[in-house]
Amino acid sequence: MNNLHPNITFTSESEENGRINFLDLTLIRNNSRIEFDIYRKPTTTDITIHSTSLHPTQHKMASFRHMTNRLKTIPLNKENYERELQTIYNIAENNGYKKHTIDNLLKPKTKKLNTDQDTTNQYASFTYIGKNTYQLTNYFKKLGLQISKLGLQISFRTDNNIFRNINTQTNDQNVYDRSGIYKLTCPDCNQTYIGQTGRTLKDRYKEHIRSFLKNRNDSNFANHLLRTGHEPGTINETMTLLHHGQKSRRLNITEKMEIFKHKTFNGPIINEQIHSPSDVTFKTLTYKRKRNDDETNNDRNVRRRVE
Ligand SMILES: [Zn+2]
Repeated sequence: MNNLHPNITFTSESEENGRINFLDLTLIRNNSRIEFDIYRKPTTTDITIHSTSLHPTQHKMASFRHMTNRLKTIPLNKENYERELQTIYNIAENNGYKKHTIDNLLKPKTKKLNTDQDTTNQYASFTYIGKNTYQLTNYFKKLGLQISKLGLQISFRTDNNIFRNINTQTNDQNVYDRSGIYKLTCPDCNQTYIGQTGRTLKDRYKEHIRSFLKNRNDSNFANHLLRTGHEPGTINETMTLLHHGQKSRRLNITEKMEIFKHKTFNGPIINEQIHSPSDVTFKTLTYKRKRNDDETNNDRNVRRRVE
């Protein structure tokens, strides 16, 4: 079977001492019976969303609900059941939850029957901003039932997600009044230059043009135009804002990544045609911190000269 494709490799695992792990279970062969135990990888951590974290209760309870449901549905012997229950208690305690929270989850539940046939269910998602959010959503629920017999189901989302933290891209009308990482594209040959400015894009553009007109050796982009005889276009034709932001360490890293990305996917870029430090620094990101600091200082000096 392993000859089917070089990227597909099947491995087989045999039982040890009559035990074998399968998904989240340990199967134990006991004479003619198979017994179960809960299996956790040795690398598992007991971290869940902490009780003090600003998250809707439903999200916090999700992992515990999963664990207690598994405890209730998998036929464990008394010893394994007690041990698993203790593990869940420990995880709860380590993340700031009380023992009775788990006990409540373990209580048998009576399912509510939907007797009102006339209601239509619809979902609405709210951003969770604290416990007061429930007041708001309960109000909407009541209102929906009163007005249009709408059985409103509420789901929650949180505001602080990764996308929000790394995506600073903008399609604003007045992009040229903002600062950040920008791209200059030569209208004649489509080669690009990636730069960063703490002032407005408009000002930075004017500077590049001034360097071009006065034949000054302080802009890579202007140098490209002068060397090739290409003409700069208008700001709209030439300049785009890639990431909005103030000068910061994060923006420096984003700039390096943009340069790396453009180079990788769009071929040679203007940045590196005259000595560019970005290549060096990007590689040293994985080097020892001490060495990296030295490189970064060099980079900063070179950048100051180049910009
Ligand atoms: Zn060009």
